[in-house]
Amino acid sequence: MRSGVDIIVIGAGAAGLAAAKEATQHGARVLVLEGRDRIGGRIHTLASPSAPFATELGAEFVHGRPDSTWGLIRNLELSAYDVPFEHHERRHGRLAKADDFDARLEDAMRGLAKLRGPDVSFSNYLTRSRVSELKRRTALDFVKGFDAADPERISARSLAKEWADIGNTEDNTQFRLLTGYGALVAGLLRSIDRRLLKLRLREQVTGVHWKPGEAAIHTRRRVYRAPRVVITLPLGILQCPPGGPGAVHFDPPVPALRRVHDIGFGGVVKVLLEKVLLEFDRPFWEDDEDTADASFLHTPGSAFPTWWTARPLRSCRLTGWAGGPVADALSNADESRLRRCAIQSLADLFHRARGFLGARLCRFHAHNWLTDPFSRGAYSYALVGQDTAASELARPVAGTLCFAGEALDTENPATVAGALTSGKRAGRWAAR
Ligand SMILES: Cc1cc2nc3c(=O)[nH]c(=O)nc-3n(C[C@H](O)[C@H](O)[C@H](O)COP(=O)(O)OP(=O)(O)OC[C@H]3O[C@@H](n4cnc5c(N)ncnc54)[C@H](O)[C@@H]3O)c2cc1C
Repeated sequence: MRSGVDIIVIGAGAAGLAAAKEATQHGARVLVLEGRDRIGGRIHTLASPSAPFATELGAEFVHGRPDSTWGLIRNLELSAYDVPFEHHERRHGRLAKADDFDARLEDAMRGLAKLRGPDVSFSNYLTRSRVSELKRRTALDFVKGFDAADPERISARSLAKEWADIGNTEDNTQFRLLTGYGALVAGLLRSIDRRLLKLRLREQVTGVHWKPGEAAIHTRRRVYRAPRVVITLPLGILQCPPGGPGAVHFDPPVPALRRVHDIGFGGVVKVLLEKVLLEFDRPFWEDDEDTADASFLHTPGSAFPTWWTARPLRSCRLTGWAGGPVADALSNADESRLRRCAIQSLADLFHRARGFLGARLCRFHAHNWLTDPFSRGAYSYALVGQDTAASELARPVAGTLCFAGEALDTENPATVAGALTSGKRAGRWAAR
């Protein structure tokens, strides 16, 4: 079937919508094909009846002030608020404010800037550095959680860059959007000229058949054609074994795609994020002077080692997080097991009986991003010695295909900001 469009964009996440916006601004007619029944991809904001602020099952924080995200926040007149990054931690049987948390982390990361010679894994770097065992453990837990990475596989050089950026940024504040990232992607979609855009939801792409200047995109229902295609499939989908569930078949094969295994993401490294949101009938942790103002709480060794409250807002919500290899143990857990693990982790953290917590719990949401059929993982990280993989994958193929998405952005990979930048770049290329 001829689709009557200049460009097909696969995926309606941040990258796909940014590509569509950019291409239509250059006058191109665009068809966006999305497998899910909603836009946003790894941005997944739930409407919450109990809270006037967002419930985020996927992306939640705006890290610093990247232009791609802030340009949209301003244009769409969205409201963002600062997130306090104070840490509490259970250590030696006591839950207390960890005033030295950031200093410990910075001490452990400081040597990254001095790394010379061949790239090494973060574990290898830490073994060679002379930091204390406590700082080493703090840094390992942080990389597993924040970067959702396997410390044995993540590139120390990539972390050196991440930390140099953190150090160079004058304003390193983290923000949340009051109405959530969902409002950002909804606003982005609304801002696209609808005369030039077609959006098809529930269109799962199974194959890309192409030759220079022409591509046929096979979905479960039909075939769409266009001279150019922007592919924003998550790395977890591109890494699916050929013929396996979720795999998208490329005919002829795209040589650069062999590099998808040179970037870390779910499946291969089994990066998994579980994000659990629990709402209690009242914020019991505020009864205790020590934890009344807590924002981030750590309970190393638990199934969900990191928790956060809604601070600076006061609410009954706690969010639990297991990232990277820590989450592997939860990969097959059903919802009731996740709930039990979450309650147990909170019991460890607050030193409260499981019954006390269970009786006060009124709502529970969980999302397993590793088993999510349209992402098969959470976000990317650079593997040791593979720093050219993302840029090689991002190079247009025979003037016909262009891959985009968070994993292919070299400035802000793994983030919404990176996805937006990468999508915009691909959209501009496709509309040329
Ligand atoms: C739990 C979690 C927390 C995060 N927290 C943050 C955060 O705090 N801050 C931050 O900046 N970033 C965060 N991120 C990362 C951020 O969400 C992503 O980097 C970004 O949203 C990726 O956008 P994308 O467009 O590249 O990919 P996606 O959003 O995954 O978009 C790709 C689209 O392709 C669709 N698709 C997949 N397969 C097919 C198919 N076969 N056919 C058609 N369509 C298909 C998907 O459904 C999806 O809509 C988080 C991610 C997760 C999972």
